[in-house]
Amino acid sequence: MDYWKQIAAQLSECAGVDFSSVSVRKVSGGCINEAVVLGAGSRRVFVKINDQSRRNMFEAEADGLRELRASGVIQVPEVLCCGEVEGKAWLGLECIEFGGQSNQSELGRRLALLHQRSAPRFGWHRDNTIGSTRQKNSWSDDWTRFWREERLGFQFDLAKRRGTAFARSEEVLTRIEEWFDGYSPKPSLLHGDLWSGNIGFTNAGSPVIFDPAVYYGDREAEFGIIEMFGGFGAEFYRAYCQASPFADGFERRKYLYLLYHQLNHFNLFGKIYAPQVRASIRCLLNK
Ligand code: ADP
Repeated sequence: MDYWKQIAAQLSECAGVDFSSVSVRKVSGGCINEAVVLGAGSRRVFVKINDQSRRNMFEAEADGLRELRASGVIQVPEVLCCGEVEGKAWLGLECIEFGGQSNQSELGRRLALLHQRSAPRFGWHRDNTIGSTRQKNSWSDDWTRFWREERLGFQFDLAKRRGTAFARSEEVLTRIEEWFDGYSPKPSLLHGDLWSGNIGFTNAGSPVIFDPAVYYGDREAEFGIIEMFGGFGAEFYRAYCQASPFADGFERRKYLYLLYHQLNHFNLFGKIYAPQVRASIRCLLNK
């Protein structure tokens, strides 16, 4: 338990916060890491903690948060610093006061603005993680190759190494181009793991996004994880589509994007996700 004090001491140095007397409050709700709020007087810092081996994961998360925040179009916690103490890696972030009412149309409007931020190619300058699975982000001019190799192929291989070869996976991989007939995606800045657990609303009602798996990709790919957990409200879609309507063929491509997250859940959490993976493969191949 003593490592809070050491984290506080490191934060004092790197972020200039005076933590000479520190309070600790555990935060629940995370899927991967331990989280606490460290308090010193009126100043509070949100800290995520994991094993030392996860230092790189936190550095990639910090880079992702900086990239999203630099867009200036949606609220994102400021990164203070990363560090290591007693076999633990930690990431210190601006502590946000959540508790406001959900504002779905504002979320949709701001997400559309985020997706207008672009890069010359698909990918990112570094790999990161999706949950705790490695997510490869090699730069590419070719979106369908990127999705086949860096996303679906990678996850199918992972499943195979763990003993499950999904029927017709090769067919999905070889037919990807078909589903992009008449549609040329642009590299949009994506949060990458935008399920409802990674969104909060401030007391003033502003949406805040965190815990990203950032890369530049087809903006439709953002909707894979959104749809996996039942989608967001009608007002969200109305606001998003008013700014950036979906192109023809999205209803089919949606399954390509869902499939990535379903496979990742299968690889992380086990066979309970296999029926969802198979259902998406069926929807892609039989429609
Ligand atoms: P994990 O990586 O373990 O999934 P999250 O980054 O999702 O952890 O954070 C866990 C919980 O902590 C979130 O559900 C949210 O309620 C809260 N949280 C996340 N970021 C902040 C922040 N910057 N300030 C305050 N609370 C936060």
